[in-house]
Amino acid sequence: MNAADPPPLRMPPMWRRVALVMTLVMVVALSVAGWASVRAITAQIDRDDATQVSELAAQFVPVFRSRLHMADAWVRYLTATEPGTDEQSLRARVLATGTLAGVVLVPLDERSAGGLPSLATSDRLALTAGRSVLKIVPSAPSAPAAPAAPAVQAVPATPAVPGRAGVYLAHLVTVAGAQQIGFFQLAPVWLWRDLDQVPGRMGLAVVDAGGSVIFAGAPLASGVPHLLVRAPIDARHPARAVVQGWQQDGTAWRGAVAQLRLDDTPIAGDGVWNIAVYDKAIDAWPALFSLVPMMLVLLLLGALCVLFGTWYLSRRWQPALTRVHAALDQLRQGVFAPVEVGWAADAPRVVAQSYNLAVAELQRRFAAQGYLAEIDRLLLEAEELEQALEPILARVCDLTGAQTAAVALVDRDAAAHARSFTVSADGGACPISRVNIDEEMAQQLRESPQASTVPSHHLDRYGFLEPLRALGARSCCVWPVMVGERIAAILSVGYGEVAAPLAPQLSFGTECAARLRTALDNAERGERLYHQAHFDSLTSLPNRLLFHDRLSQELKNVADNDQRSALLYIDLDHFKKVNDSVGHVAGDQLLTIVAQRLRACVKEGDTVARLGGDEFTVILRNLPSGDVAGTIAERIIEALQRPVNIAGRDHFVRASIGITLFPDDANTIEAVMRNADLAMYHAKDGGRARALFFDSTMTRALAPVAQSGLFRALRRREFALHYQPQFDLRTGAVAAVEALLRWQSPREGVRLPHDFIPAAEESGLIVDIGTWVLESGCHQLAIWRDDGIAPVRLALNVSVQQLRLADFTNLVRRSLERASLTPGVLELEVTETVFADEAARQTLRALSELGVRLALDDFGTGYSSLNHLRQHPVDAIKIDRSLMQEVPDDPKANSLAASIIDMAHALGKQVVAEGVETLPQLDFLRERGCELAQGYVLARPLGVAEVSELLSSRQGLELLLRRAAG
Ligand code: C2E
Ligand code: MG
Ligand code: MG
Repeated sequence: MNAADPPPLRMPPMWRRVALVMTLVMVVALSVAGWASVRAITAQIDRDDATQVSELAAQFVPVFRSRLHMADAWVRYLTATEPGTDEQSLRARVLATGTLAGVVLVPLDERSAGGLPSLATSDRLALTAGRSVLKIVPSAPSAPAAPAAPAVQAVPATPAVPGRAGVYLAHLVTVAGAQQIGFFQLAPVWLWRDLDQVPGRMGLAVVDAGGSVIFAGAPLASGVPHLLVRAPIDARHPARAVVQGWQQDGTAWRGAVAQLRLDDTPIAGDGVWNIAVYDKAIDAWPALFSLVPMMLVLLLLGALCVLFGTWYLSRRWQPALTRVHAALDQLRQGVFAPVEVGWAADAPRVVAQSYNLAVAELQRRFAAQGYLAEIDRLLLEAEELEQALEPILARVCDLTGAQTAAVALVDRDAAAHARSFTVSADGGACPISRVNIDEEMAQQLRESPQASTVPSHHLDRYGFLEPLRALGARSCCVWPVMVGERIAAILSVGYGEVAAPLAPQLSFGTECAARLRTALDNAERGERLYHQAHFDSLTSLPNRLLFHDRLSQELKNVADNDQRSALLYIDLDHFKKVNDSVGHVAGDQLLTIVAQRLRACVKEGDTVARLGGDEFTVILRNLPSGDVAGTIAERIIEALQRPVNIAGRDHFVRASIGITLFPDDANTIEAVMRNADLAMYHAKDGGRARALFFDSTMTRALAPVAQSGLFRALRRREFALHYQPQFDLRTGAVAAVEALLRWQSPREGVRLPHDFIPAAEESGLIVDIGTWVLESGCHQLAIWRDDGIAPVRLALNVSVQQLRLADFTNLVRRSLERASLTPGVLELEVTETVFADEAARQTLRALSELGVRLALDDFGTGYSSLNHLRQHPVDAIKIDRSLMQEVPDDPKANSLAASIIDMAHALGKQVVAEGVETLPQLDFLRERGCELAQGYVLARPLGVAEVSELLSSRQGLELLLRRAAG
């Protein structure tokens, strides 16, 4: 394991937590169950209790009603007849009823008798109406004591008992002829009898409408009677009991109150009795506490169950989980170990089985990823895709579970043909075979680029599956490998049995096909890029880069194998004319035909390259003799000379060819190139349309020139013109610009004429260079003219070699015509050496006749002859910089310069002073009447953009001088 890996997680023993959780659950469950059942029982008892007291209270209403009626009946009976004069007999009769406990007689007019209830007027009216009046005498402590002086007490009343009031029925009675009010006391023993129907724990109380206790079976706290009176009794059903609760001595009580109303009976007076039956409310807690021992037992039992359950579970589960845990740890370290499931049970068994399935799947995927990675590596490492196909196909077999795999690489140029690479799973590779791609299958693959299954009875329909069939495949799957719109390859796998492959196997096949597609795509793109980088887009020939590679390869080859090869440097003669006369498109066509003809002239293995423009090279390999190169060069010249018809015109291409043999002539790229270049130039110089072998005399004669690289500079257009203004000393305006040649060498930067003009003169290249200067100068002047900023004149330096050319005047004329310029705008600067050459002198005359101005350059150096000025058609002289350098400090130089100016004027020539570097020089020239001045003090030779700016700003001499001074 890696040091940075986290340590493995420890598997905690599960029994502790299970036991704890189960115990907690049990305790909570038991407590809740105990509490809830106590609550339910108490509520039920409560409800039963309330029902019982309500029923009892209601039950006593008719009991007391009937007892009162009965007492009333006795009273009526006793008072219905006069008992005579004897009160004793009345008392005896009263006692004999058993219902009444005594009678007190009060005279009619007596308002109140001590201890007896007073009678209201309504009571007296009721008495006189013959009705009985119910009266209550409250109980002790203010229980009715014996009246202080009862007027008549025929029968002594029963002594008062606490908690029980005296209940009387008053009625008129005639005793001894006198009508009196008799207060008949109801016998408490009789009235309150049979109250044992009320269970012992309950009490019964009767309270009148004023809250006075008539009877109380158990003592009632003060306020309770009034509470009972206020009970919300339904007036229509007064006998229906209402339950009330109260606190008494710190205990909760509950009672049911029913009402007895006598107003609908013959009895008048205190006719509302509230009959209450009451009891202490049930307290749940003692009941709950009574359950505690039982619960403790239950808890103990539960704990035992928990212990057993925990032991059972951990015995069955813990080992399984521990093994899965260990297997997961191994998986973390990359080991795919399955867990044994034989011993496991329940959920752990399912977990272990799922784990095993997952591990198997992971293992399969890992293996597949490994195979795919291997395919990637093989594709990346292979230089050629085909080299890697065999091992790749073996991996495809592994991934798809196939017995055989093949890939058919479709020919680029023929979609119906392919080469099939076939491999069987046991490691055997078969020879590469050519197969046909059936159009029907190709169409099908293009339409559905996913895997297609080919059943066994269709196998022989498809030719490209033949190699798989030959190896015993009975069913196949194929995947197209599309590069862009094209089927670049077909991947196919074969199975020995007919069963369809599994979905993952198909998806891996798709991934393999995708990898092949990327590889083929990259290869094709690489080829395209390589082609772009190494081949000329116009002719499809190798370009300069590839040519260099091939040449260096060939140099090594000839050195290693002691062979001889040749390099041909071919330059088309006057190709520019074709471009100029029939246009670039036609020129391109011509170059393409030239390329084809060149290729046709050489054998397979030789290289024909286009270096650019009209320059071609040919590497001829392994020549038996040098002459063969000459023969091929002649063949090329002949082949090219055959007419080429472009745009309805026949063109005859002529070429100059330089031939060099290597390693005979040289053994480095640079030297071989230079030799071929030099030979070609000599061929051109020697009259064009010919081939010349390089020889060492060419090197000696042209060594500095060749080394100067001027040939290539000219061909590659490395020259540019700078322009130095000449100012009119009278007007201050720019009168002319002199074109001065610059060589923009890619290696050495800008090179000045003194560096290369001598070599150009020596090699004769100055003629070609001069022609280019003439054409570019005229072209630039035309641009300035078109922009409206042209200087009056353009001065060009001309070599004597140019003037020697018979055609030079025509060349100048054509150049002027091409740029639509008049000859007068051109001034050609020549040096005095031209006068020594007759041909040059003739050209000068012809030029002068044409109207071109001529200036004598570098005047005042060497043997300047005034005679020349007189004899030749020179329009101006240019005083040389070397003379000007002495002016105005050297009097001799001053007088020489002054006399040159004077004489020139005398001969009607203009004077241009060049190399003017100081203001005193300028003053001197002005004073002497010199017309034009050119020099650093005014302006240096400038690039086209700078001169154009100067010309368009029309900055005059004064401004430049002021700027120079300031
Ligand atoms: P040139 O025709 O006498 O040109 C004048 C030379 O003097 C130029 O040098 C110019 O840059 C330089 N010059 C002008 N004013 C001053 C100045 O105030 N002080 C100094 N020290 N030099 C000044 P450049 O361009 O190096 O050319 C040198 C010579 O090369 C030219 O002398 C001319 O003979 C020759 N040359 C230049 N261009 C061509 C060309 O296109 N064809 C031919 N055949 N010869 C050329
Ligand atoms: Mg000049
Ligand atoms: Mg000069």
